Amino acid sequence: MKVLRGMKDIIPPESKRWEDLIKKAGSVFSSFGYELSITPILEEEELFNRSVGSDSDVVSKEMYVFSDRSGEKIALRPENTASIMRVFLSGDFRGKVFKTWYWGPMFRHERPQKGRYRQFFQFGLEAIGDNSPYIDAELIYLLDVFYKKLGVEAKLEINSIGCKDCRPKYKKDLISFLSNEKLCPDCDKRMINNPLRVLDCKEEGCQKVVLKAPVLSNYLCEDCRDHFLKLLNILDNLKVNYKKSERLVRGLDYYVKTVFEFTSSELGGRQNALGGGGRYDELSLQLGGNRVPAVGYAGGIERTLMMMKENVGIENILYLALLNDELIDKFLPYALSLKAFAYDKNFTVINEFKSFNIKKHLEKANKLNASFMIILGEEEFKNSKLIFKNLKTKKEEFVEINDLETTVSEISRRIIENS
Ligand code: AMP
Repeated sequence: MKVLRGMKDIIPPESKRWEDLIKKAGSVFSSFGYELSITPILEEEELFNRSVGSDSDVVSKEMYVFSDRSGEKIALRPENTASIMRVFLSGDFRGKVFKTWYWGPMFRHERPQKGRYRQFFQFGLEAIGDNSPYIDAELIYLLDVFYKKLGVEAKLEINSIGCKDCRPKYKKDLISFLSNEKLCPDCDKRMINNPLRVLDCKEEGCQKVVLKAPVLSNYLCEDCRDHFLKLLNILDNLKVNYKKSERLVRGLDYYVKTVFEFTSSELGGRQNALGGGGRYDELSLQLGGNRVPAVGYAGGIERTLMMMKENVGIENILYLALLNDELIDKFLPYALSLKAFAYDKNFTVINEFKSFNIKKHLEKANKLNASFMIILGEEEFKNSKLIFKNLKTKKEEFVEINDLETTVSEISRRIIENS
């Protein structure tokens, strides 16, 4: 039996890097006041028809939909912003900004290729209930910090796509310009459903056309222009690097004002977006609520991992080598409390409940790429000592076997000093 096309198992050793990414996301995002939300993978199909829109590619061509056993129309979520807004509208978040983050699988029936899967994972952040450009800036700043912490080189592009007051005039002028130009077949359709999307078409012919198209920034109303200038001003103040990009748009109507994308040229090809975000002040209306200003971001986890330096997140491994079966029971409390101690430190303890000769242990430790080793034989145990070996420098030293707490903290201290 095989895994489905466009889907994959995330298993060791690769899963270690996932664990590290999620851990870092949790700690960075919560330090900025974003708390975790976990929503169901299955939702009513209607949620996405109303939010993402039934004429969007994501809903009309890519969404997995089916009727469940009671005949309800169900969708596997293609994204998570709509679910978070559903949560917001059904909860009691009045009077405060709901800042939340999530991570999990999303599903889109696309043609699989490098960096594009049918089940893929996103992390995302949403700040609902505030229209201040400071919230947009804080979100962008925190993403910048996050990518740096992961060692991912991410370039930021930013634009403003106006609002329902200023965008219609732009759309009209754009359509009248495009109707005299030769576009790719997809853009011929986009021109009718979603003309702004023509601006970020990746086809060479369309890109040439777009260079001569009317420019959105000339159409922004005062409110949108002020919001955008203030945002850029805050980012300058925070020394966040960005590139203004007139062609950057989001495909969905509920986006207003700020749109931004983090890209990596190293990803290459057409799938170079690490993630995209923007202000979606109109989404709550589409879901039947009052107008609630909101801004958010969704980043692809697989693409982020592709850009994460190999050694980021690889913890130090401490390998325990017992030379004699009789030491298994005697050393067990030390081995397990080392593991308990290591749970939030930057090392992992690995052992087998078996003894081998030292040569065999070294082979196993090398295979695991372990950094440290504890060697314990009958002789050492009799003298209440164990050998702590730094496998990178080959340096060995004795550690006294005392009471549990002292011994474990002595070993841990050496690991931290040598890391
Ligand atoms: P979107 O919700 O389409 O703006 O996507 C946000 C981010 O999710 C993208 O920039 C990608 O990093 C990632 N992403 C979207 N679709 C896929 C996919 N089919 N496979 C892998 N990653 C994806």
